[in-house]
Amino acid sequence: DEFAVLVPEASRAQALEVINRVRGAIDPPFQLEGLALHMELSIGIACYPRDGLDADSLLRCADTAMYVAKDTKLGHAFYDASVDTRASKRLALIGELRRAIDEHELVLHWQPKLAVRGGHVLGVEALVRWQDPERGLVMPDEFIPAARETSIIKAVTQMVLEEAARQWRAWADEGRNLPVAVNLSMRDLVDPGLPGEIAMLLSRWRMPAAMLKLEVTETSIFSDPHRTEDVLERLGAMGLRLSVDDFGTGCSSLASLKRLPIDEIKIDGSFVSAMSARDEDEIIVRSMIELAHSLGLSVVAEGVEKRAVIERLAELGCDVAQGYYLCRPVPSEELAIWLDQHPDSGAAVARKRKFREEPARENLASA
Ligand code: C2E
Ligand code: MG
Ligand code: MG
Repeated sequence: DEFAVLVPEASRAQALEVINRVRGAIDPPFQLEGLALHMELSIGIACYPRDGLDADSLLRCADTAMYVAKDTKLGHAFYDASVDTRASKRLALIGELRRAIDEHELVLHWQPKLAVRGGHVLGVEALVRWQDPERGLVMPDEFIPAARETSIIKAVTQMVLEEAARQWRAWADEGRNLPVAVNLSMRDLVDPGLPGEIAMLLSRWRMPAAMLKLEVTETSIFSDPHRTEDVLERLGAMGLRLSVDDFGTGCSSLASLKRLPIDEIKIDGSFVSAMSARDEDEIIVRSMIELAHSLGLSVVAEGVEKRAVIERLAELGCDVAQGYYLCRPVPSEELAIWLDQHPDSGAAVARKRKFREEPARENLASA
């Protein structure tokens, strides 16, 4: 499905002419057994001698340009060395990340989710960081987007799930009853093996399914709903809690929200932080809360940075809040100190009462 065209002694303009002729030949629909099939075409162009002196380097540059043409949907693109530098930087980052996982450089920080009314801790979200020996603490926005584009995100998810379950067990053994939430990506949701892997994880750490919440973004569920729905259904049937992250930034269909085994929505921080300044944002937040409640879902407000915001959220009936105003994401040792300084939180006072376990076999059986 890939072809090369060699145009000797041609200027850029002449190359474009050839491209238009190829386009003209491909554009009309092909008739195949009574069906009209339309083909899409992406053309990458490399120029001798600017982009390379031999066939290998010219083909490589043309290939890179072709992917740019595909991504931008422009149909064709000339090779651009600066785009290529970005691509190779990303490749280098993925390679580094692979090593980082092997050398246990990925660590989890934890951010509590608090009840808007009562202020008790309802759970904690695991947020991954990369403790790089040279660069220091690298935030997820710097490597998760690149990781999501390749299968390496699965290794990240696996590590995060394992570490989250291990930490849950350690807290449970101390008498802290603390549900944990983990962020998943699109690639995790289209993997039919995921529910089985999670069932084994739960059984290994003797962790009740209800203690693990999975946060998935609207875009990751709804960009390919047919493939993700099956995995989500199975996870829901196992008793895991599902949460729609960054709610309001994607385009979920109301019908899907109702159909899927979702427990809560997390209103994106951009709406929450703008709430006190702009009326429109407060209207949006209020409507989201009403919508979620009418569908029987719980509502989390992300990115709460001010006291005024949490007061207003309480008036609007929002259930849960998360944000710097309450607690920043911190390493597990710091979280333990924070929890103990918040005696109103069940997670701190449950110490004396050992957490009762559900039989892990149930998790396996329903997987
Ligand atoms: P998210 O899941 O929506 O997490 C919320 C982000 O908002 C976190 O950023 C958190 O530190 C930050 N945040 C919390 N409170 C506040 C606040 O009051 N104000 C502001 N401005 N920000 C606040 P972080 O840790 O940098 O993570 C960014 C994103 O990276 C996450 O967004 C999530 O999509 C992704 N991510 C993090 N860890 C993982 C992971 O283990 N796996 C995957 N697939 N994605 C992850
Ligand atoms: Mg999240
Ligand atoms: Mg979010």
